[in-house]
Amino acid sequence: MIDSHSHIYCDAFDEDREAVVERARKAGVRHIILPNENLASVPRLAAMRERYPDYVSMTLGLHPEDVHDDYLDVLDQMRPMLDEYPVVAIGEIGIDLYWDKTWREQQSHALDIQLHWCHERDLPFIIHCRDGLDDILQVIDHLDCPVPRGVFHSFTGTPDDVKRIRERGDFYFGVNGIVTFKKSTVPELLPVIGLDRLLLETDSPYLSPVPNRGKRNESSNIPHINNFIAKALDVTPEEVSAATDRNVSALFGISPA
Ligand SMILES: [Zn+2]
Repeated sequence: MIDSHSHIYCDAFDEDREAVVERARKAGVRHIILPNENLASVPRLAAMRERYPDYVSMTLGLHPEDVHDDYLDVLDQMRPMLDEYPVVAIGEIGIDLYWDKTWREQQSHALDIQLHWCHERDLPFIIHCRDGLDDILQVIDHLDCPVPRGVFHSFTGTPDDVKRIRERGDFYFGVNGIVTFKKSTVPELLPVIGLDRLLLETDSPYLSPVPNRGKRNESSNIPHINNFIAKALDVTPEEVSAATDRNVSALFGISPA
């Protein structure tokens, strides 16, 4: 099992990060991908990557909620870091209009710029999308370079959204603890997405799966998500972990020992 989206570099884990990584290993999590948020988070990811070079991978990108009037300057500063750090993806990038639509145009522009980084570096993207799918698909449809491969993380759309996304390219879908919540619509999406397009993620420290809902989330919760998906799809937990491991390797080009 691989946690394809985990913010265990953030300050919520400053007191016990070593123990969190140890618990993840013991739970059978073979690798963790750390998605970046902004300029300030880069040294945190880099430090974790140095501490656990075989166990964690890092990405670079500007989170849509961190896109403000200085975004072009921020992206100018971030871009040379692609030569400095061993990144496996551009992320997390995307559109989030849930709380605030002020930066809608800027979010689209930042996404377009960073999708070009994917193309130039042959890297996949990690997309964060909240109330932003139409805007994201519009950016993808107007890209003046080939559409890169990538994952829509924490995916909670409709079956039709899955189709609209898949029509446009080599895309995967990240499923986290939301799938285990009562009244979640994600279980019915699973057969539409298919095991060959699914990635496991926690999105720690948020969205802890049942039976740990409400607590701080951490990567060791991945088996709860894996087992829930197996039951929902009527396959074995081993089949889900094998398929999602394969998908991570195919998308990010990493094959943990
Ligand atoms: Zn995230």
